[in-house]
Amino acid sequence: MNFFIETIGCQMNVNDSDKISDYLVNHGCLKTTDMAKADLVILNTCSVRFSAEHKAYSLLGRIKEHKDVNPNLIVGVVGCMAQHAYKEIKRRCKFVDFVLGAKNIDNFSQIIGKYVPFEYSFKKQTSENVFRYVTIMRGCSNFCSYCIVPFVRGPEISINCGEICDSVKQAVDSGVKEIILLGQNVNSYNDNGINFTKLLRQVSKIDNLKRIRFMTNHPKDFSEELIDEIAGNDKICRHIHLPMQSGSDNILKAMNRKYTYGQYKSLFERIKTKIPEINITSDVIIGFPGETERDFSDTFKASQDLKFGGLFIFKYSPRPNTSAYKLKDDVTLNVKKQRHTLLLEDSNEISKALNGRYIGKTVDVLVEKYENKVCEGRNSQNLKIFFDSDKNYTGEIVRVSVTRALANSLSGKMIL
Ligand code: SF4
Repeated sequence: MNFFIETIGCQMNVNDSDKISDYLVNHGCLKTTDMAKADLVILNTCSVRFSAEHKAYSLLGRIKEHKDVNPNLIVGVVGCMAQHAYKEIKRRCKFVDFVLGAKNIDNFSQIIGKYVPFEYSFKKQTSENVFRYVTIMRGCSNFCSYCIVPFVRGPEISINCGEICDSVKQAVDSGVKEIILLGQNVNSYNDNGINFTKLLRQVSKIDNLKRIRFMTNHPKDFSEELIDEIAGNDKICRHIHLPMQSGSDNILKAMNRKYTYGQYKSLFERIKTKIPEINITSDVIIGFPGETERDFSDTFKASQDLKFGGLFIFKYSPRPNTSAYKLKDDVTLNVKKQRHTLLLEDSNEISKALNGRYIGKTVDVLVEKYENKVCEGRNSQNLKIFFDSDKNYTGEIVRVSVTRALANSLSGKMIL
């Protein structure tokens, strides 16, 4: 049986899709990248933004065309949108065989078993991946006023530290070099007193694991202990994604983020002081209800002041159930687009200038891909790096002298 899986959304969804793929492969299925050749199609959905749901319905339109041609095609919709729009999907897409919400993703094996008569053919999990996501927490209890995640993924639950270490060991044994620990707010991880810093210490003891990354962080829970651990632990990569969301205290309060810009800035500076080589990236939401020119200007100034290594800018879109949904979405789409463009252009210039500082320097790159005689990998700071090579170095850490810098990537020459 061939299966095709399409993933919309964040790394949590990518990780869930990886697990589903592993399960299917371990039960004798073959993954295909061509939907027309699939007997089973799974769409893993996101509902963080309206545009993600729109994309899911348009993909479902394409999937239906395949089902019209092949009525035996099994179609499953999973993930966040499947959680909160279960009835709507069932109503609008009668051709969908099963809908499985993000909270119940661990029940995938039971659901799929109803449609696919698997012969038990367990194979040892093998991974061609250089890196692997490992979920350390599920759900979120923060209720940022714009965010649907607590409603679709449920309250925050920390996964047992021993289970996490076993997953990491298993991945490393199958050839994985880098682990990315995932949670909506990894900084509040707590397994019976084992906090996130202690978890990092445990994971970093695993032999042959070369690199550890983690995401996402919440500034209100990012501790001094964690900063010290990153500073002193060579396995932890020099990259922190620290969502700011806004530079305006009024908007941060309305977003229920539980910190002020001053507190965010202070944390940012403490991290930079203790770990000078760190790359801090961030998220910002533009056009939250009530965002004035002054509020936007505060965000713009914050971006100029802090100089993020990368800034991901999202236009606010109201999500059902959230407390912000009751607020008037009073920043017009035109204004959101203008603010988005202004900030994006400026932040790209900042990132490009920061990346320019790597030119002439040598960096360690973990190679993730080899295509058309080009190796692609990342340095510790999570910057993509490309270099020409006659040999495939996938899975190896090599030294690269940087010759060119763009806003989102570097290129250079490998040093033999
Ligand atoms: S911390 Fe806030 S933005 Fe992040 S998942 Fe939780 S509620 Fe959403």
